[in-house]
Parts: sequence; C-alpha cells; structure tokens
Amino acid sequence: MEELYDVIIIGAGPAGLSAGLYAARAKLKTLVIERDAVGGQITGTSEVANYPGAVPEVTGPLLAKRMAEQCDAFGAERIKANVKQMFLEDKEKRIETEDATYKAKSVILAMGASPRKLGVPGEKELTGKGVSYCATCDAEFFTDLEVYVFGGGDTALEEAVFISKFARKVTIVHRRDTFRAAKSLIEKASKNPKIEFLYDSGAKEILGDGMVSGVILQNYKTGEIKEVYADEADGLMGIFMFVGYLPQTELIKGSVSLNDVGYIVTDDKMQTNLNGVFAAGDIREKPLRQVVTAVSDGAIAAVQAEKYIEANFED
Ligand code: NAP
Repeated sequence: MEELYDVIIIGAGPAGLSAGLYAARAKLKTLVIERDAVGGQITGTSEVANYPGAVPEVTGPLLAKRMAEQCDAFGAERIKANVKQMFLEDKEKRIETEDATYKAKSVILAMGASPRKLGVPGEKELTGKGVSYCATCDAEFFTDLEVYVFGGGDTALEEAVFISKFARKVTIVHRRDTFRAAKSLIEKASKNPKIEFLYDSGAKEILGDGMVSGVILQNYKTGEIKEVYADEADGLMGIFMFVGYLPQTELIKGSVSLNDVGYIVTDDKMQTNLNGVFAAGDIREKPLRQVVTAVSDGAIAAVQAEKYIEANFED
C-alpha cells in the first residue's frame, strides 16, 4: 500500500523549509518536494541584511542550507522532483511527479515566485549570454564591463550596488522617475560613484549575436530611441532584469482560489479555499514578501496542518 504522509510541502524555499521543520518537529510524517536547489530566491542573494539576527557572513545560500539541515534533523523527508499534477479537492490529496505518486492528509503550497521577464526581443535568446536575473550568480562575469540593470524596486537597487563591486559602470534603467525601492537603498545607490540612473526609460530590444553586445533603449516621455553598445575592447555588456516576480501557480489554477494578479488567497491561518490545503511564502497574497514573513507563514501553515489532521483523521 502507498504511504500516506501527514503533510506534503511543495517547494523548499524559506517558507517550505520552515513548514517542514515545524511539521517534522510536531512528529508529522512530512515530505518536502523541490524541483531545483533548496532555498528558492535567497540562493541568489549575497546578504540577507534584514533577517533578524543575520550576520554578514551568512549568505543567502548558506542560510538556505542551514534551514534544510534543520528540517532534515527533525525528520522531514526531502526529495528533488518535478510535480506534474496535484489533486487537492479530496480528503486524501494526491501529488504526481514525473516518476511517482504521493498521498497526503494535507498539503502546504510553497512554490514561491519566479523572476518576471521583460518580454523584449533578444531577451530569451540571450539569457545566460549576458542577460541575467541573478546578481549573486552572474555579477562576477561582468568584472570591469558595463552593465544595465532594469527595475526600480528593492531588488534592482540592492543588486545594482552588489554588481557595482565587479562592473566598471552600472546604469539603472527605470520606467518611471521615482523608485518604489526603500529610501535607504536609493540613498546607497545614489552615493555609489559607479552607478548612474536613467529614468522614464526601458529596453526595446537586447542586441547580440551569441552574446549581448548592446541594447536599444526608449525614453517613454520623449519617445527618443537610443542604441548603446559595449566598448569594442569589451565585446560584451551585462543586462540584469529585476522587474518583480510572478507567483508559481500554474499547477493549481482552477482548484485553489487566486486573486486577480495570480497569488493564492488564504486567511491568516494560511488556509486556502480547499480543506487541508495551506499556502505559505511569496506565492500567497500578502503585504510583505520577505524571508522573515515566509518563514512565519511556513510555521503557521504547519501548525494549522497539524490541527486539521487531528480534527479530521483518526490515528
Ligand atoms: P517589485 O517591488 O515588484 O518591483 C518591481 C520593479 O520592476 C518596479 O520598480 C516596477 O516598476 C518594475 N517593473 C515591473 N514590470 C516592469 C516592466 N514590464 N518593465 C519595466 N519595469 C517593470 O519587485 P522586487 O524589487 O523584486 O521586490 C519584490 C519583493 O521583495 C518586494 O516586496 C520587496 O520589498 C522585497 N525585497 C526586499 C528587499 C530588502 O528588503 N532588502 C530586497 C529585495 C526584495 P514600477 O515601480 O513602475 O511599478
């Protein structure tokens, strides 16, 4: 007979790992399924400066590794697999991966969000060839080169400062003339002699034959079009896109209630519209998407899953 887990957690970012830790520590039979590396978005962060108690030596990947170790130490099972389908309506939930089917009394959805694409010509073809969505992963490739960063939120400003440690010059291109990023980050970027700002502008096309060699920029106020190219000696320029994130809800559309921009709607106990199905972290409709709120969501979801199982299943 197939095993019946108490809780299956989909996603091993901070929300999923925190849920795993709390569920396993409560002696629930817990399975965490992740298709990529553990840690989610924090694996692309050099420093998690605003996580209470964090010290500069603890990078995003290190924090994620520690969270996973804690989860394992309490007895959660973790597997790497790509979930293909979820059947969440019935009392017994079914999760199908490419290779197997898993059953559970409750499910915690913690698939997070992925970087939004700009959707301009050249972006897709040149991703990994000068176009990047992860500064920690790729900034070093652009040592002494020129870089354009697109976006005006916390991520764009924070990562531009990080990239400036490597690049010769960083231009932050934002579609408006005011940033939505925190004042402290705007100040830090403004004081950085390597960083310049281009307002009311965006990319029309990324240029390059094999590698990024330039970008066509457009000023949205004046309509002016400007082509910028990498220095001939450099032969390459960097394009970093930090224009927000999209919730990873493809697998649950039609069964779990989403808001009009695609995030899962829950109550403050992380309960979705389906019995025994909870959501945690960036995938959820919420006012603040941070590691600290993701781990909080995960803990609440696991405790609520435990209560749900107690009330609805006999030993
Ligand atoms: P975000 O806050 O959603 O900002 C996205 C930025 O991209 C905005 O400036 C937006 O412009 C721009 N944008 C969106 N679509 C665009 C398009 N099609 N073309 C051009 N520009 C586009 O995303 P984020 O900066 O990644 O932050 C995500 C969440 O993580 C936020 O809650 C943020 O506070 C948090 N975060 C916090 C920290 C920190 O506290 N240190 C660090 C990183 C992220 P508009 O402003 O015009 O809409």
